[in-house]
Amino acid sequence: MEYLQGRALTNAVGNLGLTGEYSDALRTLGYTLEDTAGVERNMGLGNGGLGRLAACFLDSIATLDLPAWGYGLRYKYGLFKQAIEDGVQKEYADDWLEVGNPWEMKRETQYPIGFYGEVVDGKWVPGANIRAVAYDSPIPGYKTKNCISLRLWDAEVAPKEFDLASFNACDYDKSMRETNLASQLCAVLYPGDATREGKALRLSQQYMLCSASVQDILARFKERGNTDWSKLPEKVAIQMNDTHPTLAAPELMRILMDQEGMDWDTAWALTTKTVAYTNHTVMPEALEKWPLELMTELLPRHVEIIKRIDEEFIASVKATYPKATPEELERKIGAMRILENYMTPAEELKAKAKAAAAKAAKLEALAAKAAAGEEVAVEDDEEWSAPAPMVRMANLCCISGFAINGVAAIHSEIVRTFTFKDFGELWPEKFQNKTNGVTPRRWLAFCNPQLSSVITEAIGTDEWVTDTALLEKLGPLAKDPELQKKWRAAKQERKALCAKMVEETTGVKVSTDAMFDIQIKRIHEYKRQLLNIMGIIHRYNEMKAMSPEERANVTPRVCIFGGKAYATYLQAKRIVRLVTAVGEVVNNDPEIGDLLKVVFVPDYNVSLAETLIPASELSQHISTAGTEASGTSNMKFQMNGCLIIGTLDGANVEIRECVGEDNFFLFGIEEPEVEPARAERAAGKFEPDPRFTAVMDTIKSGVFGKPGEFDELLWSLEGNEGFGRGDYFLVAKDFPSYIECQDKVSAAYKDQDAWTESSIISTAFSGKFNSDRTIDQYATEIWDIKPLPVP
Ligand SMILES: *Cc1c(COP(=O)(O)O)cnc(C)c1O
Repeated sequence: MEYLQGRALTNAVGNLGLTGEYSDALRTLGYTLEDTAGVERNMGLGNGGLGRLAACFLDSIATLDLPAWGYGLRYKYGLFKQAIEDGVQKEYADDWLEVGNPWEMKRETQYPIGFYGEVVDGKWVPGANIRAVAYDSPIPGYKTKNCISLRLWDAEVAPKEFDLASFNACDYDKSMRETNLASQLCAVLYPGDATREGKALRLSQQYMLCSASVQDILARFKERGNTDWSKLPEKVAIQMNDTHPTLAAPELMRILMDQEGMDWDTAWALTTKTVAYTNHTVMPEALEKWPLELMTELLPRHVEIIKRIDEEFIASVKATYPKATPEELERKIGAMRILENYMTPAEELKAKAKAAAAKAAKLEALAAKAAAGEEVAVEDDEEWSAPAPMVRMANLCCISGFAINGVAAIHSEIVRTFTFKDFGELWPEKFQNKTNGVTPRRWLAFCNPQLSSVITEAIGTDEWVTDTALLEKLGPLAKDPELQKKWRAAKQERKALCAKMVEETTGVKVSTDAMFDIQIKRIHEYKRQLLNIMGIIHRYNEMKAMSPEERANVTPRVCIFGGKAYATYLQAKRIVRLVTAVGEVVNNDPEIGDLLKVVFVPDYNVSLAETLIPASELSQHISTAGTEASGTSNMKFQMNGCLIIGTLDGANVEIRECVGEDNFFLFGIEEPEVEPARAERAAGKFEPDPRFTAVMDTIKSGVFGKPGEFDELLWSLEGNEGFGRGDYFLVAKDFPSYIECQDKVSAAYKDQDAWTESSIISTAFSGKFNSDRTIDQYATEIWDIKPLPVP
């Protein structure tokens, strides 16, 4: 559902190996490559890491000459543009197609997509029909002759489906039904789904992606002359990037049975060898569920299929565990089945009878009390109703997928042993790990030509651009004064470019002699931007209390934040506001000057990342242990010689193993300690560190922003219980070790030779996080495909 492509020009020219020639040609026309590239709109059809991962994967697939494509939707508006007005986030539509998109090619390929309607004689008769139309964007591989496609579907109304009769009869609502549906379908990436209409739209988008893509895949299978359906799993693998494309499984079943005439068992055997699932989150509240009632209205035939998959799965669990106690069996089925709160009519009547009996008993007891002369209060009669049944998409993925993978070693373990524990016991062979990666073309070679030429010169070849294991040759040179000098010069050049951008976008002048300390990612409580800004407040308070001599000893820092908050996520927006409010005070404090600057750069996107990451010296990846599946910006920073301060979470664990503990600033509790820490808090046994309490008090005192402005934000860190209360993400718990670790960072930065050595080692051992490695593992361990170079 998401591709966060960013700009294509620099990447396309670079992958063709024509950067120099293209740049010269532009100069003869009076332009520079940089300025020309800067005119291109960012293709922002994704929210963050998940969509950017898909974009890196496409680059690696093309570079490795693998026969694979990306499928998605051609949203008219990408992820919103973020502006900061009076320190507060404002959202504006991103009309990225406004001036046209020179890369895409509209194809004649179209497929009908049905919605609503009913099932007649076992087949679906949709009540509304639109067409999905293919737009292809070429994805060139690095120095290959090959281009793969990113195929994005747009929704259109077929002329013959336009209801002219109703229009002429002036029934515009009816005549425009398909037209309206089509124009809404691809309007925006992730429409708000707070209402039923919003949910229906979002689910329709998912279905359109799945139906069009599955139809396209099967059409190509036939076009290539395949007539033997049993070959389908050999020829095709469908990788579902999270649960958003789960409907691909029931859609494949529907087409194989209702259009190709297969029986259930044959279709099911093929489907379960064709689709595979990547999990991207372990937070239970983020696992996708849809109301069964809504799905039944929108996709009646698919719901029949899902119900049967569910029934057969339950039967197979019963058969697999003949010795389990009834309670254990019920628990297992409850955890794994697709439908939640679902009851057959008989079960519903039984539940109703049980509720009625309980009520009767209660009334009898009250009557007895009343008879004994006691005063009794009779509550209002409430009609008993069953909880709304839901379709759990991740469970459907686990049941229909032949492989289930997480995206970093620690995450894959949590997925197998906790999130999908019962599936892990039932089908251990399905579970895999595929640690994420990023493309070294975009994220090092092209975004940081300064460091790239230093690397190429040092190791004597530019083949590291694909063979990132070659970067290890930098390891033995890490102490070399000549290399260190060039390394630092490249970093300085990038810091100057970044400082220019920061001044242009925020008006704040920053010193390039200060350490560039960066946290850029979606704003989320679990990512703990709050921990970062509270650490900054602590440091500011400390500096204010220092003598001038002590102050002269402080390591100067420029603290840069960037990231978008989901438009309705109030707590995240308050965190943005706290950062800008702290910046307003600190940046204008003459006592502090260049010792500390705090800036929030607006509208974080791929291009901004390409400017910030090469300039970074320290970056923060400080999520509560066990909450960040992998993270990928940590890998981009590492490649660019940036040191990381982080928790043992996601891919940080593996990055630390690669660079060595001496080159990673580790703090915070570990994943197994998280639940006990929450329990300690809930039991009222946690005493926050006085330095944390002091920061809370500073914020409450109204030094930053308006008095009371952050009360609701701080509320989440207070109290003892519940989600959104009682410091669920353990900011207070990790605060002491965080600020102590930051002191170590400041001390380490003073020894520039040692720091540069660590920086070189970071890049040297970043080879594992090349997305070519990740994709090679998907290709061999899941998809079973081999490179197919264009001759
Ligand atoms: C890499 C990237 C992300 C992912 O960042 P994390 O820190 O791993 O969450 C998000 N947005 C953009 C624009 C990126 O380039």
